[in-house]
Amino acid sequence: MHRRVLFCLACLPVYLLVVAVPTPKLQNDRNGNIGKFWHISDLHLDPTYHVTEDRTKVCLSSKGYPASDPGAFGDFMCDSPYQLILSAFQFMKHSFPQPDFMIWTGDSPPHVPAAELSTQQVIDVIANTTHTIREFFPTLPVYPAVGNHDYWPQDQLPTSTNEIYQALAKLWAGWLEPEALATLREGGFYSQLIRPQLRLVSLNTILYYGPNKVTENMTDPAGQLQWLQNTLEASRQNMEMVYIIAHVPVGYLPYARDTTAMREVYNERLVEMFRNYSDLISGQFYGHTHRDSIMVLLDHQGKPVNSVFVTPAVTPIKNAREPYSNNPAVRTYLYDPADYGVLDIWQYYLNLTEANREGSSEWKLEYTLTGAFELTDARPQSLLELALALAEPGSKAFHKYFKHFMVSYNDTITCEGDCKSTQTCSVMFLDRDSYSACVKKMGKKK
Ligand SMILES: [Zn+2]
Repeated sequence: MHRRVLFCLACLPVYLLVVAVPTPKLQNDRNGNIGKFWHISDLHLDPTYHVTEDRTKVCLSSKGYPASDPGAFGDFMCDSPYQLILSAFQFMKHSFPQPDFMIWTGDSPPHVPAAELSTQQVIDVIANTTHTIREFFPTLPVYPAVGNHDYWPQDQLPTSTNEIYQALAKLWAGWLEPEALATLREGGFYSQLIRPQLRLVSLNTILYYGPNKVTENMTDPAGQLQWLQNTLEASRQNMEMVYIIAHVPVGYLPYARDTTAMREVYNERLVEMFRNYSDLISGQFYGHTHRDSIMVLLDHQGKPVNSVFVTPAVTPIKNAREPYSNNPAVRTYLYDPADYGVLDIWQYYLNLTEANREGSSEWKLEYTLTGAFELTDARPQSLLELALALAEPGSKAFHKYFKHFMVSYNDTITCEGDCKSTQTCSVMFLDRDSYSACVKKMGKKK
């Protein structure tokens, strides 16, 4: 690992292709009265990335495995070279009109053994990504959430103040208000009013993450659940709508049967709280899985009450044992400024193989949610319609959904049988009882 992570805008390569962002046509006549924001996640910068003869030496994040087809913009066995991150921001910078704000759901450091990093190096990497974002978007409000890699050693995020939370509060001081910085410094979470009557709540869901040994057997690590309850209650009193952002999502993993993304006990409590306050929660936005997926939270009567989005990663890295990966991705959401309901996703991606071959990066629109699935918007009712369509046998929509899941990594990989039911049950069922019932029903159908 390089001892210092270089912050280098001056070495911005000349062959970064600057193109105007293709803007999909809005499906309705709200044009002009529509809000937009960016969502980026899982940058995972690997400063050791460099193209070299010996493929096992391209990046530390491949953990000794050979890189598959290394080029200037990265490799599917490695985390992001700085150049890939620059190309994403370069592309986003030319979006017009510029979105109102950006959410950034964590994970800046690379996937390398703990011994290759240190507290200082983790802080340096996050400082690098923070400064790079600010350099490209000096006036854009940015709202970050902490990821499981944004700590050293990874996953072990503590329940009280420490060097890293303090460093984050310093780095993000330009984006957050003093009250938000105060809780960030103490527990890695915060809330802030970001638009008229819209509060953003950034949760530290790593406190609930299985590998976090610090919080094992705790009922309410860092008092975050009580704080969340109080925050939501105050928002209800003040007639505010709420966006929830965090790194590790609620619900079940779309690719692993019977596995919640966070510890099950916390998942149950969060899902119940989100149901209780679903009338004010206009959207939930997560990262962590590196793949593109959707969930719709149902209440106990089966009524859709919340839209939940998991954005794919900027890093293209895959585990050596995994059959597929994801192309680098960033997205915008469209929202209704009247009630902050989510209207659409515009998903952008870089075809990594093509970019490396051409020696230039052309980020493209992968799909719009309403266009791809013929939906009116991305509100809970529409997502329920999508979820039901995905679960149909032989569903064409599911074929498309699974292609998006991998950010168009490979059209020939299919997902049927258990793979498909694991995916579709995770879209609609976020708590243990309803999820188990879905999986059981799917098993019987076979
Ligand atoms: Zn990640």
